[in-house]
Amino acid sequence: TYVVTDNCIACKYTDCVEVCPVDCFYEGENTLVIHPDECIDCGVCEPECPADAIRPDTEPDMDKWVEFNRKYAELWPVITQKQDPLPGYQERDGEKDKLEKYFS
Ligand code: SF4
Repeated sequence: TYVVTDNCIACKYTDCVEVCPVDCFYEGENTLVIHPDECIDCGVCEPECPADAIRPDTEPDMDKWVEFNRKYAELWPVITQKQDPLPGYQERDGEKDKLEKYFS
């Protein structure tokens, strides 16, 4: 599966949602997540993210992000249409530890 990781938080560009063939992106207040059980591993969303926040779970230390994505995908509504990123996204893009700083 692919998952959304830290750098989506407080940016939320949403370019990714329009290319997903199975509509498995879900939207929270300040980040997106992918449902890991619905993702078909096609990979087309990965290059669409300007923040490079979408990663394959085959990379190291992804377990926490797989669980994060699964947990919130069950709680949040699906998103299929691109929208404007969050205010301040340019300054926030690339900041470290956004989960701890901004996630709510
Ligand atoms: Fe959707 Fe494919 Fe990205 Fe999975 S890898 S979230 S199926 S676009």
